[in-house]
Amino acid sequence: MIEVNGLIKTYGKHNAVNNLSFKIPDNCVFGFLGPNGAGKSTTMNMITGCLSPTEGQILINGRDILTEPEDAKKYIGYLPEIPPVYEDLTPYEYLLFVGEAKKIPKSQIKSEIDRVMELTNISHMKNRLIKNLSKGYRQRVGISQAILGNPPIIILDEPTVGLDPEQIIDIRNLIKELGKNHTVILSSHILSEISAVCGLVMIISKGSLVAFDTIENLSGGTLEKSVLMEAKGDKNKIENALKSIDGVNNFGISDKLGFYQFSFDAENDPREKVFYAMSEISCPIMSMSLKKSSLEDIFLNLVQENYDYEKGGVK
Ligand code: ADP
Ligand code: MG
Repeated sequence: MIEVNGLIKTYGKHNAVNNLSFKIPDNCVFGFLGPNGAGKSTTMNMITGCLSPTEGQILINGRDILTEPEDAKKYIGYLPEIPPVYEDLTPYEYLLFVGEAKKIPKSQIKSEIDRVMELTNISHMKNRLIKNLSKGYRQRVGISQAILGNPPIIILDEPTVGLDPEQIIDIRNLIKELGKNHTVILSSHILSEISAVCGLVMIISKGSLVAFDTIENLSGGTLEKSVLMEAKGDKNKIENALKSIDGVNNFGISDKLGFYQFSFDAENDPREKVFYAMSEISCPIMSMSLKKSSLEDIFLNLVQENYDYEKGGVK
């Protein structure tokens, strides 16, 4: 478990992190969400012992990161925002270096490197210089060094920034896999990133905590999604067909001619049924798009200017 009490980091007169207190339980995928400049990297650097706090206490499984750094750091694998890789080494040479720094016994180091390279899918790149790898592969090398030695807590600062959609899915799957038997903490400024993999979420803005909850609770129990559909045909016919479909909630007709709006619960997606129903009544769908989820609205509300930090809650 990670316990943070009254954490403050001040640069000049500016509070980059402003009195944060929270606890992260074991074996969960924990999302650390906030807009750019919110203080995510600063907090992660302090939790991992890379930066000293101005005030506050950080306990990693009961060990104080300031007074017992060696013990506390043993529990943690960290991928900072900019992966700390040496470009003139190959992934294998680099991981050998990291393994020695982590004091992994010589007899185990090679099999441990093989294990993490297998997990992050970089075995086939092990002998190529890191400077010749794509951003996605470099990121995987970065993740490999974090999980080398199998620490129980893995902290990843914006691990998917700059990756293409396919690489993002790969890294997401890896995070989910790691989350089965590790505590994984990852930061992001993108809500969908966090809601796809995390159970528990903390949102910070301007260094202060604005929310700490499960994704489910944050979104009011359900992850309701909203759809805007454009269809050709008789309005009443379409309305009746849509209303009779299981899972179509809060049906409404938009001001614009031919636009229909409805919402649905994430676990009961009726869009395929809508497609077949429209086809049956010969009313072609011209477009169907998902609108921002209500969770996104909550996030924006929480981090926007008018949030009342003193009292909590949006003004
Ligand atoms: P995030 O990771 O959420 O984007 P950061 O933790 O990097 O945010 O930064 C939080 C705030 O602290 C920002 O306003 C940033 O400009 C400021 N900051 C970060 N590091 C320093 C530093 N070394 N000196 C001065 N200000 C800093
Ligand atoms: Mg950052």
